Amino acid sequence: MSCFPALSSPLFAYDASSTDFKELISLLEQQSALYGWIDIKPGDIQWEYYRTTKNKHPLIFTHFGNSAGNCILFIGCVHGDELPTAYLMFRLIHYIKDNPALFKDKCIVIAPLVNPDGFLSSSPTRVNASGVDINRNFPTKDWQAKAIRQWIAKGKNNRYYPGAKPASEQETLFQMALIKRFKPQKILSVHSPLNFFDYDGPSSDLNSFEQWMEQICKETNHPLKKFGYFPGSLGNYAGHERNIFTLTLELPSSDPQKGREYFQKFQPSILKFINLPVVGLPPHVKIINDYSPVSGG
Ligand SMILES: [Zn+2]
Repeated sequence: MSCFPALSSPLFAYDASSTDFKELISLLEQQSALYGWIDIKPGDIQWEYYRTTKNKHPLIFTHFGNSAGNCILFIGCVHGDELPTAYLMFRLIHYIKDNPALFKDKCIVIAPLVNPDGFLSSSPTRVNASGVDINRNFPTKDWQAKAIRQWIAKGKNNRYYPGAKPASEQETLFQMALIKRFKPQKILSVHSPLNFFDYDGPSSDLNSFEQWMEQICKETNHPLKKFGYFPGSLGNYAGHERNIFTLTLELPSSDPQKGREYFQKFQPSILKFINLPVVGLPPHVKIINDYSPVSGG
């Protein structure tokens, strides 16, 4: 299956028979069993990968649909110890695969496990195998001036180390490559355990996005919090600098056993985000928020 023939000219083709790939699938199956994720079947999904991590784990993703210009990117487990975020993304992949109408006129790209080294560590870690917080390592315009300085000012917490240089990590380059190749209009990144929705996006239409978010939060009974963005964060790189509507879902806990409960709770809003129309070209993009909540009852 090949999508975007004009865009898909990666330097290295992936190899599903490679030892690294087989090992990753096997480890994912073991972890899924350990966490009780019995409805996750990593071996049944058609993956692509072009990069591996320091610990030789492939950075996998999958995509559905061919419609360039109407693309949404999902990102899970950027922080390796946020376990249910991986489950949520794997479940979403199975759900979308089983419901092709969802991607008939769209392109849906899902990278469920951006930090496999942290996730598969004997004691899962937020940072990657080099000790870098991937969500502080994007090459944002303020990185050089602020990333290290803020990290030092806040007490040099190892969990938030932005790296020695911007975009120094494969996991960061992986996400940048997905954004470059698929040109998503919308991104949903799942984290835990801060328990809110946050959003970043083009200044041309941040208000409509906020109004839409307020409706979604009310329906889902999940708080909305404008958390702001950091030097090197995805919200800054994609939302603020690249005019992509970027939604962050912070789950209420990092308990892997809660994965199924969270999927039930957030699936309706995830589907609404998939179907939320975006029009125009950056930087003048807008969302069409003609959605009215079901009244009565
Ligand atoms: Zn996180």
